[in-house]
Amino acid sequence: MQFYSTNNPELRVDLKEAVIRSLPADNGLYMPESITPLPQSFWESWRDMSLPELGFHVAKQILGDSLEDEVLRSIVNEAINFDAPVVKIAEHTHVLELFHGPTLAFKDFGARFMARTMAHLTQDDDSMLTVLVATSGDTGGAVASAFHKVEGTRVIILYPKGGVSALQEKQLTTLGHNITALEVDGSFDDCQAMVKANFLDRDLMLKHNLTSANSINISRLIPQAFYYFNAARQLPDGVEPVFVIPSGNFGNLTAGLLAQSLGLPVRHWVAATNINDTVPRYLSDGNYDPQPSTPTISNAMDVGAPSNFARMKDLFEDNWEAMRENISGVAFDDDETREAIKRVKEETGYTIDPHGAVGVLAAEAWLQASPESETIILETAHPSKFLPTMEEVLGKGSVDVPERLAELADLEKVAHSINNDPKEILKFL
Ligand SMILES: *Cc1c(COP(=O)(O)O)cnc(C)c1O
Repeated sequence: MQFYSTNNPELRVDLKEAVIRSLPADNGLYMPESITPLPQSFWESWRDMSLPELGFHVAKQILGDSLEDEVLRSIVNEAINFDAPVVKIAEHTHVLELFHGPTLAFKDFGARFMARTMAHLTQDDDSMLTVLVATSGDTGGAVASAFHKVEGTRVIILYPKGGVSALQEKQLTTLGHNITALEVDGSFDDCQAMVKANFLDRDLMLKHNLTSANSINISRLIPQAFYYFNAARQLPDGVEPVFVIPSGNFGNLTAGLLAQSLGLPVRHWVAATNINDTVPRYLSDGNYDPQPSTPTISNAMDVGAPSNFARMKDLFEDNWEAMRENISGVAFDDDETREAIKRVKEETGYTIDPHGAVGVLAAEAWLQASPESETIILETAHPSKFLPTMEEVLGKGSVDVPERLAELADLEKVAHSINNDPKEILKFL
């Protein structure tokens, strides 16, 4: 399988170039050159497969012969070693729990698959692969955990001093081994700019075999397609779900569209955002008008210029009408989100995190117009990752903190303090 750039369909690269270099030089995003629906033989047995087995068939269909079956099978088996259950919380309303991985957010799917794929693709290279990543929260933890002790790789994480939650910081700074945490005297934007500056130096990039682990990497999207299949088959035979997706950079929704292109029957997509509503506005008036992001309590969705929008446009051949026939967009503010967290708890007993709560609101809006639908809302992270907000709304002690998060509190933080200067990173290469 070859991959093309959304900015230049003539430009073709192989899987290694697409995954290790992440971005084409023309600033587009990589897409598989063709997406063929899964064959009849798959649909005869998909309901009985394990999640990794399902994942293997889906990944194989996208990647073709880019990886040998045996290699792909072991990457999927090792990466997806946790479940993604669907829980019914009310009539016509289901939650797809994507927080059963090691760092309690859906980003574990993408990061774990990417880490193993990168390690395989670079196993014969002379120099070690160095992953540089800037984080404002969930991505750094998922990437650190995914690459931890993976041979031939190391990770350098930049995070803004005082800019991540206490538990998120522990997820970045307590692993050791091949994971180095740099605490930057600056903002998240500064961290991102520092990473970018080092990538623009192509000699440096090649010399140190630098790669990036952010969500524009195609290898992070592929495993996210798995759980749409896994969720759809948990509904009764013949029921086509409406997927409701709390969105920021729109990687999750794009992975869903890939699943649909592979033949998964989906009735409709609902893109749910907080007040950073660039895509819902585009869907309503056809005008793409990105804005600087505004902070909210669903902070992983605080994105004003969603990076995966380029892939969405590409999949719909830049046809606004076609996109809005398949995807609806809807946005909610923090007061509505808090109210939804509270109401879901009171009415169903389910504890939903601020991101999932935006999804619940969007599902309710959809069901008002289309009451016979079956909705599946993606719960993108465990509520304990947002403890201050959850306890403000539901009261102290209202959220169980899973052991793997709670035990981090007692581990010692190890981070190097650095100034806001791209050259400071060189000391650690
Ligand atoms: C990253 C993230 C999102 C946004 O996902 P996108 O794929 O960027 O749209 C939503 N919720 C949580 C908890 C996240 O960590």
